[in-house]
Formats: sequence, structure tokens, C-alpha cells
Amino acid sequence: MLYCAKCQVLAKSEAVCPSCGSKKLREVRANDPVLLFTADEMQCGMIRAAFDSNGIPHEERMCGPGAPPSILYGKMPNSLYHIFVPYGEVERCEEILHGIGALGENKFERNGPQNSDEDPSAAMSRGERILVRILSAVMFLALVWGVVSIADEFIDFIKSALT
Ligand SMILES: [Zn+2]
Repeated sequence: MLYCAKCQVLAKSEAVCPSCGSKKLREVRANDPVLLFTADEMQCGMIRAAFDSNGIPHEERMCGPGAPPSILYGKMPNSLYHIFVPYGEVERCEEILHGIGALGENKFERNGPQNSDEDPSAAMSRGERILVRILSAVMFLALVWGVVSIADEFIDFIKSALT
């Protein structure tokens, strides 16, 4: 297994680092820290507790996504953590992650983008509904204006016919 010492990730199939594209890879050693998992704050807490109780050395590094868009929606961005463990412990770590259900929560990651896709579309249809309401109000006013002006012309016509 090849390893990028700079990014501390494993290059599983290619001969280049999947993260930085570097070709300066070397064979991984048992005590090399490798990126095991990217977790949100809640998952990270679970994983930290599980690894601590199993005596697995680990390191978390925060990699938060850009905050401003999330703040517009009124909720704090979920901070993400890269969890690094020594390569020699990866198998045991995977078992532990299975044990606490962290790996089964891939749907958690899939739900994220889906929900954020749904939110704008729901907002769009809400916006469209408001637009339709505005348009129908404008059309109603135009209709009233048309009726009133026709009535005015009709009255003028009657007046001119009577005089
Ligand atoms: Zn790299």
C-alpha cells in the first residue's frame, strides 16, 4: 500500500496521491497516521470515545466547510473532522466503526446534499406560488381597471349621445 506522507492518506489503486496528486509516495508503515474517516462533530465524538476506550491512538483535524451559506439558512455549519489513526490500527478501527454504526451511516452523508437540494427547490416553489399570487392580483387589478375604463367610456358615450 502506497502512502503520501504529506497528506497522510493512502493511495489505494493509483500511484499518485488521491488528495494532492503527488507521485512522491512510499510504502506505508504501521505507525504512519492515515486518514481513516471524515466525520461530523457528533460522529467524531462517538468515534473518539470508542477509540479511547479501545486504546487506539488517534488524531482529529477540523476541516469545516465554508460557513456563510449555512448561516443564511439559520443553522450552524456542521464542522467536519478528519480522523487519523496509525496504519497498523486501521483494521481494528474499521471493526470499531462498524461496531458503533459509524460506517453504516453513509446515508447520513447522502442525506446532506439531498436535503440541501430540497431546501432551495422548496423555496423556489414557495417563491413561484407567491409570484402566481402577485400575478393574479395584478391581472385582477388590470381587469378592474379595464371594466372601469370601459364603463367610463360608456358613460361618456351616453352623455355625448344625450347632449
Ligand atoms: Zn498527498
